[in-house]
Amino acid sequence: MPAENLLTNTLLYSIIYMKREKKGIEKMAKEIWFDMDGTIANLYVGNWLEMIIAENPHPYKVATPLVNMQVLARTLNKLQKNGYKIGIISWTARNGSLAYNNAVKKAKMNWLKTHMNSVHFDNIDIVEYGTPKEIGRNGILFDDEKVNRDNWNGIAYDVHDIIGVLKNLA
Ligand SMILES: [Mg+2]
Repeated sequence: MPAENLLTNTLLYSIIYMKREKKGIEKMAKEIWFDMDGTIANLYVGNWLEMIIAENPHPYKVATPLVNMQVLARTLNKLQKNGYKIGIISWTARNGSLAYNNAVKKAKMNWLKTHMNSVHFDNIDIVEYGTPKEIGRNGILFDDEKVNRDNWNGIAYDVHDIIGVLKNLA
């Protein structure tokens, strides 16, 4: 095949693929879900692991935002006006006791209040570590863990360009 034909075909295929992907997005549930740790909250600061093993909720309290929260909030509010439901699907700590899971839940709720106060979430699901995120949820997921993205039913994104992906939807 001549080189220019190959190039044309490659181009055509990418256009078809992009159109299909867009159609897929349009057919999907209008839901946007966010993981917290490693996605919007940087939990992994200082001796976070020792503290979590010792069931200290401190790392969850002092986690720093990984995204420009003002831009994120503004974009999410716009998407919500356009019919998207916005949710959090986040886990408690691995092997956490019931008391620690509750402390982590509280810390995460406070974190959202502190850093995303202007976002009116439709759902905030902070569930036990390892709970499948895809059950009862659809649409778009942002999650730093590959296994969660692989199991997701809609379209799952890694965390490298959260604002960019959202702005394309708005
Ligand atoms: Mg995570």
